[in-house]
Amino acid sequence: MRILLLGGTSEARALAARLHPDVEVLSSLAGRVPDPALPVGEVRIGGFGGVEGFRRWLREHPVDAVVDATHPFAATMTATAATVCADLGVPHLVLARPAWPHGDAIVVASDTEAAETVAARGFQRVFLTTGRSGAAAFADVDAWFLIRAVTPPEDQDLPRRHTILLSRGPYRFEDELALLREHRIDALVTKNSGGAMTRAKIDAAAELGVPVVMVDRPPLPAGVSAVGTVDEAVGWVESQGQR
Ligand code: NAP
Repeated sequence: MRILLLGGTSEARALAARLHPDVEVLSSLAGRVPDPALPVGEVRIGGFGGVEGFRRWLREHPVDAVVDATHPFAATMTATAATVCADLGVPHLVLARPAWPHGDAIVVASDTEAAETVAARGFQRVFLTTGRSGAAAFADVDAWFLIRAVTPPEDQDLPRRHTILLSRGPYRFEDELALLREHRIDALVTKNSGGAMTRAKIDAAAELGVPVVMVDRPPLPAGVSAVGTVDEAVGWVESQGQR
């Protein structure tokens, strides 16, 4: 059995490790970050070229199933895979880690709405963790931002007052607590990414009573099959092999 595993997450790497070598796994990465953590097994890197590109690619490289284990905010790739797999009749599963509970967070639908919220509430020292592409939405907000990202934001307007902190998770509660204190953070802006690797900032904010502005996840495409854990995804792949 051969599957295409759309990756870029720790869950995708864990799934590849669980399936390999009994199942032939071809992992696909977007190629956004230099020196990405690589899964075991075969890997391809780079976009497919939108819906038509992905359709062509799947025709030229037939697989028995596609598992989409991209990040919950990688909505374009997820929509593309859902559309093309449905069209071509390729079995398709989304593996999306469970969302964090909203708790007391101010829940918003987009980076733009998060920026409006920061401005409206008058937050002044903001820990911005929505990733390098999300920072542009805050360009006109009059506040100081600690922008944490894996790779430097490029070719985009950024808030006038900011410091960039380049780093990659996982993060520990004590370190997040120290960071919030050191920079006298008065608001945390985060996506609802879910998972344990980047959750400590939410717990640290709760500990210090720092308000959290949380960008909610984009919805999954209608009608897709989805699971929340690597175990369930392994079970689904095995069930496809028995068909
Ligand atoms: P996106 O907006 O859904 O994707 C933009 C384009 O990147 C897609 O249209 C596709 O290009 C290409 N792409 C995305 N994932 C791909 C994959 N696994 N293999 C091949 N091409 C892929 O996604 P994104 O938010 O930019 O995320 C890019 C990658 O980073 C994803 O693999 C995701 O798992 C990972 N990631 C994202 C986040 C996040 O917060 N968004 C966080 C951690 C990791 P074509 O249209 O040319 O096919």
